[in-house]
Amino acid sequence: FLKGKTALITGSTSGIGLGYARALAAQGANVMINGFGDADLIQSYVAELSKVSGGKAHYSAADMTVPDSIRAMVSECTNLLGSPDILINNAGIQHVAPVDEFPEDKWDAILSIILSSAFHTTKAALPAMKAKGWGRIINTGSMHSLVASPFKSAYNAAKHGLAGFTKTVALEVATEGITVNNICPGYVWTSLVENQIPDTMKARGLTRDQVINDVLLANQPQKKFVQVEQLAALAVFLCRDEASAITGTNLSVDGGWTAQ
Ligand code: NAD
Repeated sequence: FLKGKTALITGSTSGIGLGYARALAAQGANVMINGFGDADLIQSYVAELSKVSGGKAHYSAADMTVPDSIRAMVSECTNLLGSPDILINNAGIQHVAPVDEFPEDKWDAILSIILSSAFHTTKAALPAMKAKGWGRIINTGSMHSLVASPFKSAYNAAKHGLAGFTKTVALEVATEGITVNNICPGYVWTSLVENQIPDTMKARGLTRDQVINDVLLANQPQKKFVQVEQLAALAVFLCRDEASAITGTNLSVDGGWTAQ
């Protein structure tokens, strides 16, 4: 049902973003992926996505900390695939440390990649969505858009900020056929989670198994990781006409985390 539509997904060379790309391509959308990683692997994803969609796929290496590169990515998408009808702000990194030891450069990077990049992509993509009278902006928030955990001050601040940005843009475009939502996953098994295990072991003096069971899944009542495919299915639903009244929301997919 997305044939002829174009999706731009930041941070989609792995994990949740790649899951969104695959699910939207499976519905026929042209897809531009973005992020870092092995060049051959990324090219294999591009080939896979264009084959699955029967449309086009491209890759942008734009760094989400660099506003000019973000704007250039939106232009490149428009030139190669068409202006983004679906924009998914998904790029993210994590750093785990007590606030009084938190490195300034990590704070700045997390705020730019998660929060400011969503502003820059949205600003660049909205005029064409308004002109078409249709658009879907989906942000990847987190349960940490709604509640906090210690040692993640930058991430929690950025993800809470993204929730506020989502609501504001949703209100601004409410009559224009454009919806804006924030998907809030609990712990999903991706490299982002894998990579924070060593720092959490260090910050809390725990073993790997203790971090997984006693920290990561301790507050996730279902006691299992959310699956990438479950998030991708929600993103696809948000693109349907049936979802056109869902806007400005935080949609929790967190195994019960925020029910507590
Ligand atoms: P991931 O590490 O697999 O993917 C992150 C993506 O962002 C990668 O494609 C990476 O290359 C890209 N990226 C990182 N820095 C970038 C930059 N400067 N410019 C452009 N791209 C950049 O992690 P993931 O778990 O799939 O995370 C995706 C999103 O989901 C993030 O926003 C994350 O905060 C959020 N999230 C993840 C979880 C989880 O448990 N994994 C839970 C809640 C929210």
